[in-house]
This record gives sequence, structure tokens and C-alpha cells, in this order.
Amino acid sequence: MQSFKTIADLRAHLTPLRQRKIASRIAPQIALVPTMGALHAGHLELVRRARKAADHVVVSIFVNPAQFAPHEDFQSYPRDVVRDAQAVADLKLDNVALFTPDVAEIYPAAPRTQIELGDIATRWDGAARPGHFAGVALVVTKLFNIAQPGIALFGEKDFQQLQIIRQITRDLSIPVEITGVPTAREASGLALSSRNAYLSDEERNIIAPKLHQTLQNAAEQIRAGKDIEQTLQKAKQDLTAAGFNAPDYFAYVDSETLTPLSRLSPLASRLLTAARLGKARLIDNIAVT
Ligand code: AMP
Repeated sequence: MQSFKTIADLRAHLTPLRQRKIASRIAPQIALVPTMGALHAGHLELVRRARKAADHVVVSIFVNPAQFAPHEDFQSYPRDVVRDAQAVADLKLDNVALFTPDVAEIYPAAPRTQIELGDIATRWDGAARPGHFAGVALVVTKLFNIAQPGIALFGEKDFQQLQIIRQITRDLSIPVEITGVPTAREASGLALSSRNAYLSDEERNIIAPKLHQTLQNAAEQIRAGKDIEQTLQKAKQDLTAAGFNAPDYFAYVDSETLTPLSRLSPLASRLLTAARLGKARLIDNIAVT
């Protein structure tokens, strides 16, 4: 498996691949899977699907300082590129390249350009983590320009991020097809996350799975026509009783705009939540309709 640390080297690898396009193939030639590393089975599923969708895959591993607030876990975020490279190699897929740039390669100078995302980025995780989605938007747009993929894959686990990236590509006419991939979970229901490494065994096995269970219970209640406000309040109380800190939010939203809904929606709708447990901040979401 080839691995590249600089934009120039990655482009030198990709340009001829893009030019060698076989006329009869309709599949996009290059797929991009952006990650921050500490790869788990959820990330690896994105890579597998990417390779099915395209002839060549670029997996980027970059812990993006622009999406962390000063008090957040940028320094302590788990990093192990050697292990990550082995995990991707173990998939035994051909035509998969790693892109593992240093911070100075992506940000040779402090970036001054900002992408204004509007309402969708001020709610939920955007309210709990001011500036986070601006940092995500910046790095993902840069990665699109660096790799120029035909398709890029993102997990539904970060549902707000996925919808923001869809908005960016639509609004800025970036020629990348965005594919969302369902959340990979442990048998307990806990969504796989690099940050699960911050949990103790008890937190991980006993308490953390209650996030998904509470989402499922609330979804059933909402589908059954129960009062939305009461259902959301009860879900928050259940999480606090289970051992989480008071959730940052537990919301029932329109799946596209992420605006809150006060009635069962006939359109696609979703429950989103985030809550701190011990040293970790966990997020999760599920479809309701
Ligand atoms: P991260 O490294 O956490 O920034 O995630 C990189 C990509 O993997 C993002 O598109 C995430 O949404 C996706 N991802 C993370 N965890 C999961 C999961 N449990 N299931 C599916 N995709 C995931």
C-alpha cells in the first residue's frame, strides 16, 4: 500500500490515474475517505465501500487542529499511524493509498479563509462546540481540492457533519458525490468511535450503550405518536440517571435541515444526541421516519 505525506506526492500519484480513465466505466475513478485515524471497524467499512464505488481510494489520516477548540482534546486525541496503516493493509484491497500529511503541510500558514455555513452549523454540536464545523468545512474542502475525488464517503455517526458536507458541495458546486454510510456499532449498540478509548471498561460496557438504547426507546415513542417534548425530556433524564452528564442536546429534527420538529414528521426525521460520560463526549443519532 502506498502512503503519501505531501500534497505534491499525492497529486503526482493521482493525476495519471485520473487520466487513465477507461471510457466504459461509469464508476468514479477516485474515492476519498477522510479520517482522523485511530481507525476502527466503522472507518474500515467506509474504505471497503469506497473501493466498491471507485477504482482507487485515498484514505486521509489527519487530526485537524482547526476543528478543535483550545480546551478540547487535540493534543490527547489517539494517534497511531503505523497501526492504522496495518489495519488498512489487512483489508487486502488493491489501489488504496494513505495520505498522512503533517499539520504544516495542510496549514503552511494560519488559514484566514472561512466557509460561512449558516444555520445548520449553529445548532446541536455547532452550539456545543463553537467553530468546530467551520474547521471541518475548511479541512474537508481542502481535501476535496487536494485529492479531487469523484466520490467521498462519510459516516452517519456524525450526522450533522454529513449534512453540512452535503450542503457545502451543493452550495459551492464541488463536483464530489457524497455518500453517507450507516453507523457501525458494537454488539451492545454503542457506536464505534475513536473516543471510546477514553472510557473505562464499566463506562464502555454498561453505561455508554444506554445512549443508543435511549435513542431507540425515544424513536419508538415518537413513532407511536407520544408528545415530542415530553419524550425528549424523559430521554435526557434517563441518560443522566444512567450516569451521563446532562446531555448537550437530545433533539428530534428534520434529517436534511436539522431544524427541530415538534410533531411526528412524514418526511425523513432523526433523533440526535450528545452527552459526556467520564472523559469522553459521545454523540449518536438514529432515523425515526
Ligand atoms: P473520524 O476519524 O472520527 O473523524 O471519522 C472519520 C469518518 O469515519 C467520518 O466520516 C465518520 O463519520 C466516520 N465514522 C466514525 N465512526 C463511525 C462509525 N461508528 N460508523 C460509521 N462511520 C463512522
